[in-house]
Amino acid sequence: MQGMVRRSFIAGAGAVAAAVAAAPVRLPAQPSPATAGPADAKLIEDLVAANRILVGQGVLDGYGHVSARHDRAPDRYLMARSVAPELVAAGDIMEYDLDSNPVDARGRTSYLERFIHGEIYKARPDVKAVVHSHSPSVIPFGVTGVPLRPLYHMSAFLAGGVPVFDIRAASGEMTDMLVRTPALGRLLAGSLGGAAVVLMRGHGNVVVGASLPQAVFRAVYTEVNARLQAQATGLGGQITFLDPEEARKAEASIEGTLARPWELWKKKALAR
Ligand SMILES: [Zn+2]
Repeated sequence: MQGMVRRSFIAGAGAVAAAVAAAPVRLPAQPSPATAGPADAKLIEDLVAANRILVGQGVLDGYGHVSARHDRAPDRYLMARSVAPELVAAGDIMEYDLDSNPVDARGRTSYLERFIHGEIYKARPDVKAVVHSHSPSVIPFGVTGVPLRPLYHMSAFLAGGVPVFDIRAASGEMTDMLVRTPALGRLLAGSLGGAAVVLMRGHGNVVVGASLPQAVFRAVYTEVNARLQAQATGLGGQITFLDPEEARKAEASIEGTLARPWELWKKKALAR
């Protein structure tokens, strides 16, 4: 298989082929997966916009990443090369298989924690977009045991419960806190279960959505809800959270209006 891939790769370049054959080239552990073909140009544009929107909204900074499932191949996802999200352009978007192998790296490096995305896409066929961030207001809820709960209608999607992934407890090891292997990605996807958001103890969170606008919306309002819940807690009174029925109704209503903030956010992000 590797020989076939190499032959086709160097076909038609006889001199180069001889040089490559003679050179002590270290082949990758496995051949690159074949491309599923180009993704919809609008999806690429939306993914570039999503990166910039999430920076503008204080969810991503120099770190974190957002991905989208390939529109024509459910066993592929799209994500930028390892670059600060605010700098992402269309040419930075790479295709990955669900084991998080890049299809056509061309020297571009990948995010260390890309396994978060691949393993969640494997476990959750309903998920079309994933955001991993270190958004600051959420961090305390991952380390105190205080549950993150929906305080207002914009974050009704939290009503199903927000699990916490503790990498030490889940893996049984002392790690550098990063989800840098497929096995750790699978453990994280297991903690997420069917939820919209999973917190990562001492690290950040992951938000999923049925579309890129929905995942971005949820990532933004997870951060806002965390900030508001800490403020409400500081006031000292009894907090009234959304009732599950209120949350279900609110989520359905808000869902129908997602295009409004998305249009605004995308226009501003792509004008920068
Ligand atoms: Zn991270």
